[in-house]
Amino acid sequence: MAQTLIQENYDVVVTGGGCAGIAAAISAAKAGMKTLLLEAGSMIGGELITGLPVDGALNARGEWVVGGVLKEILEEHERLGGYIGAINDWRLIWYVCIDPEIMKLAVANVVRRAGVHVWMYSFAEDVVRRGDEVTGVVVINKRGRTLVEAPVYIDASGDGDIAMRAGAQMMISNEKGEFQPLTMLFRIGGVETMDLLQFCVDHPENLAVGESEWMGQSLTPKQCAQNLYDQRQPAVFFKAGGPLITGGIERGELQETALIGIIPVSAERKEVSVNTTRIANIDATDAVALSNAFTTLTDQAWRSIAFMRNNIPGFEKAYFAGLSHRIGIRETRRVVGDYILTGDDVLNARKRDDGIGKGSHHVDIHQEGTKQVRIPVADGGSYDMPYDMLVAKGIRNLYAVGRCMSADREGHGSARVMGPCMAQGEAAGLGAALSIRSNRPGDVHSVDVGHLRAELKKQGAILDGTH
Ligand SMILES: Cc1cc2nc3c(=O)[nH]c(=O)nc-3n(C[C@H](O)[C@H](O)[C@H](O)COP(=O)(O)OP(=O)(O)OC[C@H]3O[C@@H](n4cnc5c(N)ncnc54)[C@H](O)[C@@H]3O)c2cc1C
Repeated sequence: MAQTLIQENYDVVVTGGGCAGIAAAISAAKAGMKTLLLEAGSMIGGELITGLPVDGALNARGEWVVGGVLKEILEEHERLGGYIGAINDWRLIWYVCIDPEIMKLAVANVVRRAGVHVWMYSFAEDVVRRGDEVTGVVVINKRGRTLVEAPVYIDASGDGDIAMRAGAQMMISNEKGEFQPLTMLFRIGGVETMDLLQFCVDHPENLAVGESEWMGQSLTPKQCAQNLYDQRQPAVFFKAGGPLITGGIERGELQETALIGIIPVSAERKEVSVNTTRIANIDATDAVALSNAFTTLTDQAWRSIAFMRNNIPGFEKAYFAGLSHRIGIRETRRVVGDYILTGDDVLNARKRDDGIGKGSHHVDIHQEGTKQVRIPVADGGSYDMPYDMLVAKGIRNLYAVGRCMSADREGHGSARVMGPCMAQGEAAGLGAALSIRSNRPGDVHSVDVGHLRAELKKQGAILDGTH
């Protein structure tokens, strides 16, 4: 604290410019709050701009369960020519495919239009706490150290940095100290979609399909593969245990992996994004361990491209088209909130009166090597995320949203995907505004949840009326 030179004041300070943080900041700013979004890196948008699809925006039945800020960003992305849209993977989910390059522009436009103040290259390194309240966040950047003060703070840092430094109770990993793997996304251009899909129809034994009873119904893998073919999109999940991946691992051509996830990102460029590299059990809050993983992941990416060119029809003439701007981190710390979302809530599609957003993604926990837990939500439906899971226990004016949410490991395994993370962020941003305007300014624990739900619905959030 010794060298704090500058002091600034905002209504709401959001730490972390990933999908949860941008949703929170846009929501707070649109509600009239002077909002600061802090991002340590050089880009905002998080995994929206790495080549991943948005999961959990629709349930397995194909009903949209997340609207609001996410929809606004998708509409901007479509306006700029980037929309691919919702695709059924005939496995467990419907996901929304996007062009990460165009998404960079869409995110920037929506954030700017909302009037969010953005500080990139700015790391929130410390927190000032008095009593049960956070009174400031210390930010370091090339300008020096700034003490930023606000009545409400939103921790969307993925790692719960603000909550941890404020002394909140934290959870990390599981009892064995395992972490879901790191993954470096990469993109491949020049892919012949119909050749790839024909290979799927001819060899459905390689595909992860029909895993949700709801989605698979009584279809055979071959019929699911035919449905994939009929969508005419290069949206394919090859699974571990199938001959394609097993052969690749046995011949030493491929790292041990649970999947080769192929995700359409641009029909124009015949480009897909690939989710296959992995190193498990790295604590990504250790910057040295994270950095040491980098070259192993880039090496895996290069070898995976060679493997795909040599083994998967449609990729014969494909070329390397780009690498994610950062290592993908699935899990680190989680904040203990007034409520902890559980795997039971998720799997039973539990509905609640105090729901501020919905999740619908299966419990999805990647493990070491070829292992991955995938358990579908009951009946292809969705669950409600309660308001109380957003508020950090014991701290008057702090929300925690996104990857560092208050959830047990199974609950997190579902709600960690982008749809629910953005719904959480949107609710916290608006909740911050309601709290500041209430007769207990800044006390986020006493927000009128009925009022918040009504306001969220007005801005397009989906809270009711779906399975
Ligand atoms: C490989 C991989 C595959 C996935 N697949 C999918 C998928 O297909 N579909 C899907 O919907 N989801 C998927 N997910 C999950 C999902 O993408 C993430 O859980 C989600 O994007 C998390 O968003 P977030 O905003 O909470 O966190 P993050 O995206 O991690 O954002 C946190 C931001 O905070 C910044 N930050 C951290 N600490 C500080 C600090 N102290 N000061 C300032 N800034 C800070 C970071 O730089 C970062 O930009 C996947 C995740 C990974 C890693």
